[in-house]
Amino acid sequence: MAHLRDMRTSTTTKKCASLRVSKKVGSAKAAPRGAVVGRVGERHNLGQLYIYRMLKGQLSCRSAVRLGRQIHSSCPQVQRSNRLPGHLQNFCGCREDNRSSLLSLGVSRKMSTKFGLAKRLVGTEKNIWVDISKMAVAHNATNLGQGFPDFMAPDHVVQSIKDAVADTNPSVHQYARSSGLPRLVQTLSKLYTPHLGRAVDPMTEVLVSVGAYGALYCCIQGLVNPGDEVIIIEPFFDCYQPMVTVAGGIPVFVPLRPTKEGEVTSSADWKLDSAELASKFNSKTKLIIFNTPNNPLGKVFSLEEMTEIADLCKKHDVVCISDEVYEWMTYGENVKHIKIATLPGMWDRTITIGSAGKTFSVTGWKLGWSLGPASLINCAQVVHQNCTYTAPTPIQEAVARGLELEISRVGTPESYLTSLAQELLPKRDNLAHVLAGLGMKPVVPDGGYFMMADYSNIDVDLPDTDEAKDFRFVEWLIKNKKLAVIPPTAFYSAEHKHLGENYIRFCFIKVRMVNHL
Ligand code: PMP
Ligand code: GLN
Repeated sequence: MAHLRDMRTSTTTKKCASLRVSKKVGSAKAAPRGAVVGRVGERHNLGQLYIYRMLKGQLSCRSAVRLGRQIHSSCPQVQRSNRLPGHLQNFCGCREDNRSSLLSLGVSRKMSTKFGLAKRLVGTEKNIWVDISKMAVAHNATNLGQGFPDFMAPDHVVQSIKDAVADTNPSVHQYARSSGLPRLVQTLSKLYTPHLGRAVDPMTEVLVSVGAYGALYCCIQGLVNPGDEVIIIEPFFDCYQPMVTVAGGIPVFVPLRPTKEGEVTSSADWKLDSAELASKFNSKTKLIIFNTPNNPLGKVFSLEEMTEIADLCKKHDVVCISDEVYEWMTYGENVKHIKIATLPGMWDRTITIGSAGKTFSVTGWKLGWSLGPASLINCAQVVHQNCTYTAPTPIQEAVARGLELEISRVGTPESYLTSLAQELLPKRDNLAHVLAGLGMKPVVPDGGYFMMADYSNIDVDLPDTDEAKDFRFVEWLIKNKKLAVIPPTAFYSAEHKHLGENYIRFCFIKVRMVNHL
């Protein structure tokens, strides 16, 4: 390239003699022979702008430096075209030609990798909830995708937050104890002690976080070392994978596979292959992330299935993170939510996660918890104390009050912990019926509030793009039918996406839903 040669002989190169290709701003491949790269401050920005325009073949070294001095904190080309050439994307650590990535890297404004996304986060930029919610709003679509109710929480829960906010005790409005407000951890201990079949120590065996998301994050970050393998059962709640990779772990996927065909099937028909599951465990396996009732399938794992997982955990000395945010929502006499922590030998190696958002139909409250042996909870606490330190005190206070009342109502018709599932059961059946009538094949869930349905009988001319088929179908539904649902390939590894692409996921807790269909 003429401008590279030009650069090596120019007077400007002499001026920049102290500057050399630096690993901090790019790989040797991305910065060609002799490229001049600044190390710090203005020189750094200047060097990057210089390389950018030089690589585009637009500028000689001399002009680039002159221009760089004038505009080194902005890059109009990037803003205009929304694109960087592939080699510069590598150079910036940006895998995809994606404007939001570039903006998050700060490339358009600063032209410095110092303003860029941390390398460990590269590959986690896309988020299904952000993307689908945005599309739903843009097209004024009914959102039957994202999992939240469109009705109010029970009256006593609404009252509890009003009371907490109006409480004249100043401590209700100040930082709570890091691991959780004493009133709440005591209530959680009281609530779960009978379900776990052992006394839970509120002070050492409970951690309150910002949502179950916060609990998952603290547990994974607190336990996973770089190179540790983490088994994830597919389809999985999408954040598990990025949380594991950001912690330096290696996700190892094992899919539930449908074992029956038919117009209407059950989530119980989706099963793990025992040999395949066993083959994923080895001496490097640190964790398994287990989710029952499962999101998105609604599968409620049976005692037999859990025993198989528990035996493998014990055999290979593996910790189990059991995400049970839909624990109160199971359907039918024969379906029981079992806590894997209650299986023989499992308490010592299990963290059980719950969510006030799901329990009380208040997903915006973002309060979650982890229960487990003090040694494991402490690992999560170490992350939590330097992350959010504590969850909002009035919300903790309100959830404590709400759960206290619920404890007093256990076994009565007023219990929200049992009545919510009773209310959801006809909604589930109704949705299955409506979907079957529309030519889809619903997978009727035993738990949770989502339903997967096979839409492959519906004949739609979808655009031929690189995106998975379910994504293209969902995009079509949002734009043409004003209906937002979730494409389940978001819950699969690249290797197993084909298992999800003939399905879409509906959320059936929303009241308006069936009217819309
Ligand atoms: N786990 C699963 C399986 C979920 O579906 C969700 C979403 N509710 C969460 C965890 C996160 O819950 P929260 O809203 O309490 O952060
Ligand atoms: N857990 C919810 C679901 O599966 C949504 C989570 C979110 O919106 N980030 O729908």
